[in-house]
Amino acid sequence: MDIAKNLQQVRAELPQGVRLVAVSKFHPAEAILEAYRAGQRLFGESKAQELQAKHEALPRDIEWHFIGHLQTNKVKYIVPYVALIHSIDSPHLLAEVDRQAAKAGRATVDCLLQVHIAAEETKFGFTPDECRQYLASGEWKPLEHVRLCGLMGMATNTDDMQQVQKEFQGLARLFREVRDEWFATSPWFKELSMGMSHDYHEAIAAGSTLVRVGSHIFGERNYNINP
Ligand SMILES: *Cc1c(COP(=O)(O)O)cnc(C)c1O
Repeated sequence: MDIAKNLQQVRAELPQGVRLVAVSKFHPAEAILEAYRAGQRLFGESKAQELQAKHEALPRDIEWHFIGHLQTNKVKYIVPYVALIHSIDSPHLLAEVDRQAAKAGRATVDCLLQVHIAAEETKFGFTPDECRQYLASGEWKPLEHVRLCGLMGMATNTDDMQQVQKEFQGLARLFREVRDEWFATSPWFKELSMGMSHDYHEAIAAGSTLVRVGSHIFGERNYNINP
């Protein structure tokens, strides 16, 4: 795997305003350093303790994003330094991030609401209606230590790119709808996190601002090793 070359290739395809989250989960610190030396500073991880270990071992100017399902009892491991949590999938989790952020002395932690847009049953997230209802409830408004910055979603894992495109377009519509309804005066609500290795072109076409690309940069993950 030529990580620097892969990075350069992906970066060359990103329009202005689209940032690359290099998804380094299950890859060792050495692979991250290779990307770092090639200029990458924004990395995504999906396990709290793995992120914590890497945060401690790696350069301080890395911007860490959390992209996986986050259990409430693990929030404390990442809240002191995480730059953006993409995967807020319940009201309870957002409230816990708020509580832990206050405890850790952070003014605010940036968060995205994860919306379930795929046909598969197994993925976490609010349905579009649950997302609307939660925002309409106003429950999030008193949470002073979290800042809602946008939405995140994963398309169905399929080769039917028309379906993928439709799902991304649907999320982009929901993003504009809730932004206009609840965040019209917020300078923060501007991120639409969608697109992975096999579908980031479709995601960009639909308006993504954050693509989360792993295997295309780092190669296949080996889930049997402990990075
Ligand atoms: C693992 C993961 C990615 C990256 O997947 P690739 O197919 O390796 O690019 C992106 N987003 C989330 C939420 C992930 O868990």
